[in-house]
Amino acid sequence: MCASKNRLFFLLALIFSLAACRRPVPRFNNPNAAGNESPPASSAGTEGRDSLPDLSAGENNTEEIFNSFLMKTLDEAGIPKSMAERIGSGAAESPGFILDLLSCLEGDPYLYRLVDKGHSLPEGYAPEDLVELGGSGVSYTVRRKGLMLRRAAAEALEEMSVAARADGVTLQASSAYRSYTYQVEVYNRIVNEMGQEAADRESARPGYSQHQTGLAVDFGSIDDSFAQTAAGRWMTANAGRYGWSLSFPEGLEGLTGYRWESWHYRYVGRELASFIETWFGGIQQYALQFIHVWEKNSGS
Ligand SMILES: [Zn+2]
Repeated sequence: MCASKNRLFFLLALIFSLAACRRPVPRFNNPNAAGNESPPASSAGTEGRDSLPDLSAGENNTEEIFNSFLMKTLDEAGIPKSMAERIGSGAAESPGFILDLLSCLEGDPYLYRLVDKGHSLPEGYAPEDLVELGGSGVSYTVRRKGLMLRRAAAEALEEMSVAARADGVTLQASSAYRSYTYQVEVYNRIVNEMGQEAADRESARPGYSQHQTGLAVDFGSIDDSFAQTAAGRWMTANAGRYGWSLSFPEGLEGLTGYRWESWHYRYVGRELASFIETWFGGIQQYALQFIHVWEKNSGS
């Protein structure tokens, strides 16, 4: 499935890049023709280029089909109009958007899998490459033993922590992978304490948590004070460079379903982190919603 999907996307991108590359090449205008389709009879035979078939209609057609697919997908994904228009015009001017998208789709599908209040992981999902965090020689600290992440995320955490250390900041991982059964316990406990409505606001239902992907980390204090700490500020400025993305930004509860969690980051990989930043204003939720609908619409 993946190979044929990637081939299809690659072809789409190639066609689109060619269309984009051809556009700036000026047509050889016959000054006497003044926009007229047929050159004057006197110049026939000397203006050989005018006799080449005009491929621009076919190009425009490909581009139109692609653009309408893109705009429809952006709309269905709930991307705000201004953002969608910017993406649409960016995609039309250069192959940047589609190639950026393709480089994300080539990665592990769980890096871009939409896991939110309305989209769960496959039933009973547990990652196969979990590794324990901490140990000697790592540059971050752990709040307790036994925290786990998928290998790639653990390596990216260490890489980011080395960079933070160089800036005099120590990152602390306080919570990471949570299994499905653990989530059942936590969720039931919160429902008992606070009621279901509050529990749904503060926590994820079992199967709907980014922590179950083995790619999400809660840093530091796991409360609002984290934003003002050196680590919180450092991560706001630098996490994206190491492939980490803030999942629940301030003021977007209506979109993400969660209040601002300055401490909760998801490892998405460098390509997707940059895609989120470049095209979706740094809002992970929009990028993941878009990719989710893109995959559905492109039949993969
Ligand atoms: Zn979290």
